[in-house]
Amino acid sequence: MISRLDLRGTALSSLDARGLRDALPRAEFDVDAALDVVRPLCADVQARGVQALLELGERFDGARPTSLRVPREVLRAAVEQLDPAIRGALLESIRRARLVHADQRRTDTSTTVTDGGVVTERWVPVDRVGLYVPGGIAVYPSSVVMNVVPAQAAEVPSLAVASPPQSTNTGVFHGYPHPTILAACELLGVDEVYAVGGAQAVAMFAYGASDEDGTTVCEPVTLVTGPGNIYVAAAKRLLKGLIGIDAEAGPTEIAILADDAADADLVAADMISQAEHDELAAAVLVTDSPELAEQVERALDTRAGATRHAVRVKTALGGRQSGIVLVDSLDDGIRVVDAYAAEHLEIQTRDAAAVAARIRNAGAIFVGAYAPVSLGDYCAGSNHVLPTGGCACHSSGLSVQSFLRGIHVVDYSREALQEVAAQVVTLANAEDLPAHGEAVTARFPDA
Ligand code: NAD
Repeated sequence: MISRLDLRGTALSSLDARGLRDALPRAEFDVDAALDVVRPLCADVQARGVQALLELGERFDGARPTSLRVPREVLRAAVEQLDPAIRGALLESIRRARLVHADQRRTDTSTTVTDGGVVTERWVPVDRVGLYVPGGIAVYPSSVVMNVVPAQAAEVPSLAVASPPQSTNTGVFHGYPHPTILAACELLGVDEVYAVGGAQAVAMFAYGASDEDGTTVCEPVTLVTGPGNIYVAAAKRLLKGLIGIDAEAGPTEIAILADDAADADLVAADMISQAEHDELAAAVLVTDSPELAEQVERALDTRAGATRHAVRVKTALGGRQSGIVLVDSLDDGIRVVDAYAAEHLEIQTRDAAAVAARIRNAGAIFVGAYAPVSLGDYCAGSNHVLPTGGCACHSSGLSVQSFLRGIHVVDYSREALQEVAAQVVTLANAEDLPAHGEAVTARFPDA
């Protein structure tokens, strides 16, 4: 079912960094092609607001809510009707995430460059964020937690959540997002929730939306965060600039670096847990043990056939984005996983902490046999909105920092400016921008 890539012998050493990255299994995720699909959808939302959003929900999600914004009593009903075990688990997830994200808060730093010359970096949250919570193939109340907790820890004054309407909802929840998503919003104290999915949700956040009477239903936001499918990613790419975005998250992925000390059955279970997300989800094992590779292959066959979403899992594992990569040594394995820059990287080797400390590129690293990615998806306290598609080599996952801007505040006295005036004039002239220098000398007419 799963393919193999043999990078033993000279196969690995003959590849440069780019060649290695290209050789590794990865999903086809052509966001540019999806731009043609989302462009008219976004234009429609800009032109017709709420009316367009309701029609697009009917077309793509098969559901039309009574109102685009979920009424407060429906949010309350979602908590009242929530299974107590799910409520307890959500509260524990929120508690742990809050612990970790509270520690990410940044304090302003002031640097005295010279007597009377001070530069302060002031961290200010964005004014308003739109948080996207996916709800197509699966529904993700956990993504409510992962979006909202860092935004609240950053003290963003205004938060709105959007998630696709669900055609299977009944009763008071008819046409709204999944009740567990609504309950998670209410438990977190978020009362602005919209029944909107896909590209149209990103467009609603970017442009705002009014109804036919011209009454504003959703105010525009300054930043949109959260994972989603290719249409969500394409809308983020299209509207970036008008809004800030966290990342264009693609299909989820797990890489596991394992040696012969790893438990093949656990490795297979973790690969399947990721493959369960999406037919495009990637599961990649990198190992220096051919015996482990064979055991994992057998365990995948057994487990994949028995799991609930067997068809989706088998498609993901059999796709070009998944595979088992054989290397000669753990050092080579580290080179491979660094080139891959996985969204989630598990280290299942002897002395896993030491190996993990050597990794440079990953969205999140899970150390040893007792830190599966599923723990991070829900209850580790870490964030599960992470860079995909190799972007972990330059980007981080969602955190408090994602919602802050560092503003440089430059405060110089007359004497402090005079001290460095000549250098400013020299550099301005070197760039042939003499008016820059004159703006300084104008302040010292007697000099
Ligand atoms: P989604 O909410 O992202 O997308 C559903 C929406 O897609 C629908 O509401 C619809 O508007 C739109 N859509 C569907 N078909 C369309 C079409 N043909 N044309 C235009 N629009 C269309 O939900 P999803 O599809 O389940 O995708 C969620 C993704 O998010 C998965 O890939 C999953 O792996 C990923 N995910 C990632 C993380 C992370 O942290 N990286 C967390 C959770 C989920």
